[in-house]
Amino acid sequence: HRVERKKDVVLDFPVTVRSFSIATGIPVNELLRKLITLGVATSQNANLDSDTVEILATETGINVQVKEEADLEGGLMEEIEAARSNVDPDSLGPRPPVVTFLGHVDHGKTSLIDAIRETRVAQKESGGITQHIGAYTAELADGRKITVLDTPGHEAFTAMRARGAHSTDVAVLVVAGNEGVMAQTEEAANHAKAAGTPIVVAINKMDVAGANPDQVKSQLSGIGIQTEGWGGEVGTVEVSALQKKGIDDLLERVLLEAEVLDLKAHFKGDAMGVILEAKVEKGKGKVAHVLVQDGTLKVKDAVLAGPTFGKIRLMFDSEGKPMKEAGPSTPVEILGLEDLPIVGEKFYVVKNLKVAKEVAEG
Ligand code: GDP
Ligand code: MG
Repeated sequence: HRVERKKDVVLDFPVTVRSFSIATGIPVNELLRKLITLGVATSQNANLDSDTVEILATETGINVQVKEEADLEGGLMEEIEAARSNVDPDSLGPRPPVVTFLGHVDHGKTSLIDAIRETRVAQKESGGITQHIGAYTAELADGRKITVLDTPGHEAFTAMRARGAHSTDVAVLVVAGNEGVMAQTEEAANHAKAAGTPIVVAINKMDVAGANPDQVKSQLSGIGIQTEGWGGEVGTVEVSALQKKGIDDLLERVLLEAEVLDLKAHFKGDAMGVILEAKVEKGKGKVAHVLVQDGTLKVKDAVLAGPTFGKIRLMFDSEGKPMKEAGPSTPVEILGLEDLPIVGEKFYVVKNLKVAKEVAEG
């Protein structure tokens, strides 16, 4: 007798011809025959890859959804991450802090990020590549480093947190000294607090007549940020992005905050990190800007990044200089992923491309 066929089915992962048959009501023999005409020789209990399931679904006119695939991938990601943190305990060492700039629009986030870049990033031979990565590593005169993320406005910041990818160690809250605390200042402060990210306040535009740091501190206290001298411990630094004043003081304060956090990472072993940006660039194709968080990322590494994967063909530092290896807290541009990854998604180096492909394609 014939079981009635269904139009929509939800299948558990992994899918077999047998489970497909049970769920849809299409006899096993009919499915196997269909697969043979499609050039797929299999048995009823063998696991089908996602392409085959999709073809079967199309051929039989059934809307198939596969359950738990995402969970499985998530589980595997956690496994990789756990394995990673056990690798090479001897190579564990202090890493530079990663900093994000938050604050009300027009209070000077971009200007400050640019001012730090101009004063504290060694300009390297760029081989004609002028496009910068939206992240760089600033270096103080004594060699201490800070990685500055240029990309996140607070939406991106929240998106990254939602994906569990904590990329920011310290948040710099930029407040224009002449305008004071505004709606987005409070919003940004709340995001940082919710993420448990320590804040350093940059009181910017100190060159403008009427800039009033005491008023800013008083207003900050009103939104629950108690600064030094105002009954709390949040550091404030007066700066002028325009005149490039107070830049080193700000970086020093960030480093002081970072010291308390005792940030460490493995300098050896397969890398993992987070995707900062992904785009198609003329002459280069699909590029991803990533932050290495642990381990060392190398050219030719096989990388898994959510639903995509690839082998790193080329790698560039934040100033466009080709590089072969990148350690913790280093932002780099990579070429070689099959598709554009999702911003905020974690990436992992895996043993070989085949494994990356399998996991990426589910
Ligand atoms: P963002 O929206 O927070 O990224 O702010 P921008 O960096 O784009 O700056 C907004 C405006 O403020 C621009 O016109 C800047 O030139 C100006 N600006 C930024 N920093 C300073 C500063 O320190 N002093 C003065 N006078 N103007 C500044
Ligand atoms: Mg800006």
